[in-house]
Amino acid sequence: MSFFNSIGRTMQRSGPRGGPKRSPTPTSTISTTSTLVDHVPPASPSVSVPGTQKPLYLCSPFVEAALVKGNFKTIVMLPKYVDIMEWVAVNIFDFFQNLNMFYGVISECCTQHSCPTMSAGATLNYTWINQDRKSVQLPAPTYIDYVMTWVQNLLDDENTFPTKSGQDFPASFPSTIKHVYRQLLRVFAHIYHAHYPQILHLRSEPHFNSLFAHFLAFGREYELLDIKDVRGASNAPAVGIGALWERWREMGILES
Ligand SMILES: [Zn+2]
Repeated sequence: MSFFNSIGRTMQRSGPRGGPKRSPTPTSTISTTSTLVDHVPPASPSVSVPGTQKPLYLCSPFVEAALVKGNFKTIVMLPKYVDIMEWVAVNIFDFFQNLNMFYGVISECCTQHSCPTMSAGATLNYTWINQDRKSVQLPAPTYIDYVMTWVQNLLDDENTFPTKSGQDFPASFPSTIKHVYRQLLRVFAHIYHAHYPQILHLRSEPHFNSLFAHFLAFGREYELLDIKDVRGASNAPAVGIGALWERWREMGILES
């Protein structure tokens, strides 16, 4: 790790690790075996059945709203002379901070009552793998609290995300950040599905869309995201953020 890279990231990462106060580390563990459940294809969007209308985030002008115009490829490319691990670490740090800030603002609308499951589509709910390796439904605020606390603790852990010069990234770093990425994706998916009206109310859709498009482009570039985690099963119509991802690819915002 070069001196300059190390300094650069230390400076970027030295800000307050703020955001809403989180509960202590959860006892549940995040597992790679967590799966999408109830992933049933929705009815055709052309059929006007209540509950199957196109979500607002897929509608004009919201789907086009962005702070960054054009393709995200250029801003995810590894800058010259920067270590790839450093680049991935600092970007994950930024994605987490931004997402945490958005969730902090809308969290008062995300309650056990409003969001009894970690929903991300009319027929899509994410489940949590508990200590007994059992897949369980959690209310979205609980699920998200577990994810954000877990990621915050990893970012604060020098053995996982080293910030000091001369300290190497652990061999487990690539697999750890893939877990992180997949769980952050689910938080984005829940906000799009359940809290998009609040994002619109704040007039933050250009910011939130750009953050998510950047997150997706970065995840694909560095193979931190599997297509099936974004899109769902390839033999069924895309649901929730999967449909958004497809739309952005058609629009040329993301690479196809
Ligand atoms: Zn919610």
